[in-house]
Amino acid sequence: MAILTPALVLAALGFVLGFLIFLVGKYFYVEEDNRLEGIVELLPKYNCGACGFPGCKEMAVSLLAKEAKPSQCKPMKKEDAEVLQKHLDELFAVKPE
Ligand code: SF4
Repeated sequence: MAILTPALVLAALGFVLGFLIFLVGKYFYVEEDNRLEGIVELLPKYNCGACGFPGCKEMAVSLLAKEAKPSQCKPMKKEDAEVLQKHLDELFAVKPE
């Protein structure tokens, strides 16, 4: 019986910690804006930081918040920036649900 005690303690500990992870995941869940992925796809994805943001995803967040402009992305071609601006204009024309 003594040999089962450590196994039972570990199983109970695993259950308690697993439940805590479940609760933390449930209460701290942040729903991501599904428009973000489309914007990131139109950026060069070099994550170079030339735009003043740490990476392309952060730039996309600022574009979505209307705090940045596609022209801030230095490596992006002018034609691609125009496509991105058009995409943003379409997004902003449609109100988020
Ligand atoms: S400058 Fe362009 S490629 Fe570089 S991190 Fe910013 S958005 Fe990404």
